[in-house]
Amino acid sequence: MIIATDMPEVAKCVISQCAYNADDGCHARAITIGEGTDPDCDTFFDNSRHTRSSRTAGVGACKIGDCTHNRDFECTADSIQVGSRGDAVNCLTYTRH
Ligand code: SF4
Ligand code: SF4
Repeated sequence: MIIATDMPEVAKCVISQCAYNADDGCHARAITIGEGTDPDCDTFFDNSRHTRSSRTAGVGACKIGDCTHNRDFECTADSIQVGSRGDAVNCLTYTRH
């Protein structure tokens, strides 16, 4: 079995209402970007309880095939940032082809 350890880091996320967020960081093990055709954080989970983990999340999967950083529905950027764009929780590193 091969275990991927080279995920791009979620360098910053300012969505403080998400359960995985603390101190402008994402502390999930891995997140998925892409909901429909939008580069939303699909792992976003609005909750009053917050993780106690201090790990930095990786980008496990990304469904946004039209981003220049996407290869085979995975992210190849060194790191990404997540924040709000309008009402949505977006990958701010998204760059359309
Ligand atoms: S990147 Fe997504 S899952 Fe992580 S804290 Fe931000 S909104 Fe939540
Ligand atoms: S930078 Fe592009 S490929 Fe990487 S997570 Fe964001 S939208 Fe997906």
